[in-house]
This record gives sequence, C-alpha cells and structure tokens, in this order.
Amino acid sequence: MERRSFLRGLALLAACPLCTKGAFAAEGAHWSYEGQAGPEHWGELSAENAACSAGSQQSPLDITGAIKADMPDIRTEWKKGGTVLNNGHTIQVKVPAGSKLRRGDKIYELVQYHFHAPSEHLVDGRHFPMEAHFVHKNEKNGALGVLGVFIVPGAANNTFAKLAAAFPAKAGEEAAVDDTDPSGLLPASLRYWAYEGSLTTPPCSEIVDWMVAKDPIEVAAADIKKFTALYSMNARPALTTNRRYILSSS
Ligand SMILES: [Zn+2]
Repeated sequence: MERRSFLRGLALLAACPLCTKGAFAAEGAHWSYEGQAGPEHWGELSAENAACSAGSQQSPLDITGAIKADMPDIRTEWKKGGTVLNNGHTIQVKVPAGSKLRRGDKIYELVQYHFHAPSEHLVDGRHFPMEAHFVHKNEKNGALGVLGVFIVPGAANNTFAKLAAAFPAKAGEEAAVDDTDPSGLLPASLRYWAYEGSLTTPPCSEIVDWMVAKDPIEVAAADIKKFTALYSMNARPALTTNRRYILSSS
C-alpha cells in the first residue's frame, strides 16, 4: 500500500489525464496506438513512462474468472455541462467542478470522461465496440477512481448523440456542451467489476481503482461512426492480471 501511495504522488505530478488546462499542449513524449510510438514502445519513449513496460498492475485487463464479493454500491452525483475536447488521442469531456462518485466510504470527484474504440477492457476475451472512462480523483489520497462503461450499437442515446454532434474534428479543438448530462451514459444497473490497475495511456501510472460496469449502454450506430471516423483504434491491448483479483459485485 505504501508503494502505491508513493507512486500516486509521483504520477499526479506528471499524469496528463489529470491536466485541466490545455491538455493537448501539456503532453509528454509523443505516443500513439501503432508503429514506433505504439503501446509496446510506450515504456521506452520517456523515463516517466517506465511503468508502461515495467509495471506489474497494468490496465486494461481481459475480465474473466472474477470473484463474487460483497462490494458497496456505486452512487454518482454528476453535474451537467462541460467542454468537449479533441486531445489528439481521444474525445474528452472536461466537466465542471463538484461532480461526485461514492463507493462505500470512498468519495471521488469527476475530472473528465473520454472514449475508446474498440473497448479497452474485454469480457471473457470479447471486445465491445466502444468504452467510456469516467476519470475521478480521490481528494484524500490522490488515487484515481475510473468507471468504465461499455458501449454497443442500438437505440439512440440522447447524451451521446449531443456529444457526437459536437465532437471537434481536429486535435486541439474544443466546444462547449452546456446541457449535456453525463448520467445519461450510465446503464440502468451499476453492477460492476473492480480491481487495482493503471492509467491505460502513458505514463501508465499504477494509481487507479478500476470499476467496470457489467451492463453496456446502447447508442446509435451512426453516433459510434462519428467517433470511429476520428479515432478508429485508440485502445491499449489487454495486459496480464499478474495474480491480481478481479472482484464482482453480486
Ligand atoms: Zn481511457
């Protein structure tokens, strides 16, 4: 636990997913999802990225063999609005202060949410077309609490449709999405899996309490296409569990 706290401290100084100002310009070494700057090379791109190759608690995972556990419910109190940003790696929504996620006695504040295609986590070896990540910070200990929600094509989703209509085409561009309610991107039930892992982008810091919702949400296939037209592959391949337990809420 002490090691994790120490790493959290280090990572929070460097972690770009937490940058709240000019995230695009604040990047470290250039990285991508393929070729010489792709996931298998992230650890070599900069000393700050060492955990990407040397870490033992990396994310994402293929979720399989989870252990049933008595876990607290997840409760969200998220505010509407924010700014949708194309940061060169994904579409990210920066949110106004004061949105909370509670899991038992742990309280996290929502910082931003963003999307991956295909999903980063797998379930029993299977990808989903997309995955949303709601990135929260625990103000007490600096840990991140990230909630993953799988996205499949189906009925239109009002929140996702509003965002998709506002996705900025070019890296570095942003647009206000004032009346967008992130709670509209949650499944009806928040049954979930939980495990300790990392950021799935450089610097791959091992500071994340992962929660992955078991039930996907549906969005219009045409809106998924609006995302994949910009980012057709921005998912880090799954890593090994390294003897970690994946817990499953009942
Ligand atoms: Zn993510």
